[in-house]
Amino acid sequence: MTPIGHIFPKNNSVQIFEEQVLIQEIFNYFSTISADVVIITNGAKPIGIITLKDLIRSLKNCDSLTLPVNNIMSSPIQTFSNIMSIADVLDNMAHMEFDKIVVTDAKNDVIGVMDRRHLLSLCYTQLTPLIKHEYNIIHSMLGLAGENERGLLKLATTDALTGIGNRRLLEEIFQAHQSLNKRYDVPLFLLMFDIDNFKSINDTFGHVAGDSVLKELTNLVSQSIRKSDIFIRWGGEEFTILLQYPDPLSVVKIAEHIRDVIDKHSFTTLVHVTCSFGLTAIHPSERLEAVIERADKALYRAKSDGKNSVRIELS
Ligand code: GH3
Ligand code: MG
Ligand code: MG
Repeated sequence: MTPIGHIFPKNNSVQIFEEQVLIQEIFNYFSTISADVVIITNGAKPIGIITLKDLIRSLKNCDSLTLPVNNIMSSPIQTFSNIMSIADVLDNMAHMEFDKIVVTDAKNDVIGVMDRRHLLSLCYTQLTPLIKHEYNIIHSMLGLAGENERGLLKLATTDALTGIGNRRLLEEIFQAHQSLNKRYDVPLFLLMFDIDNFKSINDTFGHVAGDSVLKELTNLVSQSIRKSDIFIRWGGEEFTILLQYPDPLSVVKIAEHIRDVIDKHSFTTLVHVTCSFGLTAIHPSERLEAVIERADKALYRAKSDGKNSVRIELS
């Protein structure tokens, strides 16, 4: 289980004030720095928290800024140890009313504060690599498979020839994404590509050479994408990649890069291999079939426009 300290950004420092500080000083701090939370301590130990909202609310009722902060801070403060698992922190947070997570180290010193939304989005970015690399843990966490079934499950979601994920893996990850995306809008894209004239490669060099092209191409593409991208053999000589990027332009650049890498690569079978690409965005709540249909449409355009190119069909 991943500890919360593991995904906490190193520079997630938080402003700390000793409990004797006056409200005026906190007010000054919020007016000059674009922060929205401070921690109040007693000899480095966190004893309270004040958010910008707390301060604004209190200013309505409080006549004087010269009162000590303990008049307005929320106390006691709930903190989480950096070695606590993310799952346990999230579980605890579900029962809490406030949305700030205060994380402390072994000495109970505050190492950072993060809001719930930020934490969940960090968890999300960890999700795809976790699903990819920590199958057993994820599946047991989700209660999807028993001890004996996990090895089989991994087998069932891996393509035997290339070792990358298969269609079933894409379906699982797509579903996980869509259910999370109802709450958090994380832009995801699907890139589909198909080897150009693969039939003639098989016909000319033989099926074994064709298989070796599939394996070499898979290695090549794997090295051109990030660990968190989900690379899938959709079937035959067709592949898909799930990519999480903030905007379509970044993904077009990645697609162009992959296309170029394949085009320039000298395959061991000495055959020149190119691929055609179709790119689409994944919209909230839609089904995988709809996404594949759009990517396929874009891919078809790339083929009919002369192959070895990237086409886009965003919506
Ligand atoms: P296009 O440029 O339009 O994509 O033409 P193409 O020849 O690549 O497409 P087509 O769909 O006609 O042929 C795909 C070929 O891929 C036919 C099939 O025998 C071959 N193929 C599918 N899976 C495998 C495999 O695992 N190994 C090998 N060697 N060939 C495969
Ligand atoms: Mg094909
Ligand atoms: Mg083809």
